[in-house]
Amino acid sequence: MLTASQETAATIARNWQRVQANVLEAVVQAGRQTNDVTIVGVAKYVDADLTAQLVQAGCLNIGENRPQNLWLKADDFEQRQLPVHWHLIGHLQRNKAKRVSPYLACLHSLDSLRLALALIEAAAELGRRLPVLVEVNVTQDNSKTGLQANEVRRLFEEIQHQPNLEIRGLMAMASRDSGGDMARAEFASVRELRDELQQRFPHLKLNQLSMGMSGDYREAILEGATLIRIGSHLFEGIL
Ligand SMILES: *Cc1c(COP(=O)(O)O)cnc(C)c1O
Repeated sequence: MLTASQETAATIARNWQRVQANVLEAVVQAGRQTNDVTIVGVAKYVDADLTAQLVQAGCLNIGENRPQNLWLKADDFEQRQLPVHWHLIGHLQRNKAKRVSPYLACLHSLDSLRLALALIEAAAELGRRLPVLVEVNVTQDNSKTGLQANEVRRLFEEIQHQPNLEIRGLMAMASRDSGGDMARAEFASVRELRDELQQRFPHLKLNQLSMGMSGDYREAILEGATLIRIGSHLFEGIL
């Protein structure tokens, strides 16, 4: 990783412009509205200084996959007076729910009832509603994170009426090494599950689908992604 300099700031700003243009093109090709899709800049590869350069370039939604890194950067950014919407996209252990909750614009990785209960308690103490996405595993690979579709349905049954959780939709990752067609089919199954859940739980607003990364965001956008999580394409020339 390079250390932050005027040069890295210029590289990151260029990457941000290019990623935005490519995403816009994919959104238009998919016949969707240009403001349907939000880019979450995944900053897990870089330190706070380089993350700040991405924010200064205009990327206001930042994703981290480790809760500790999220709260350390969030505290740091408060000092810098850089306003950021923080997204936690990786696994959250129950014992960190309380520590990270104050910072979260959205948790993408709700994956158990036990975690949901810890978040409800933390959110209640903060007097807030916590936006969450339930992480679904659409791959055949059991080592991957996220719940199977049946477990997702059960979790929705259990938490659908919790006032401190705002369930906004689903998050998923495609199989590693899936080609474009396979990723697209997996993303389509996430959308279909969301549509089914929306029918079964009409009082929820399941508008969000967090799917697609640097390698497969086009397929995800074709299948209805509203949040795409882009990391490596934003830090080309830096890492
Ligand atoms: C790292 C990560 C991303 C970003 O992946 P890139 O291929 O670098 O764009 C997206 N989602 C999750 C959950 C990640 O851990």
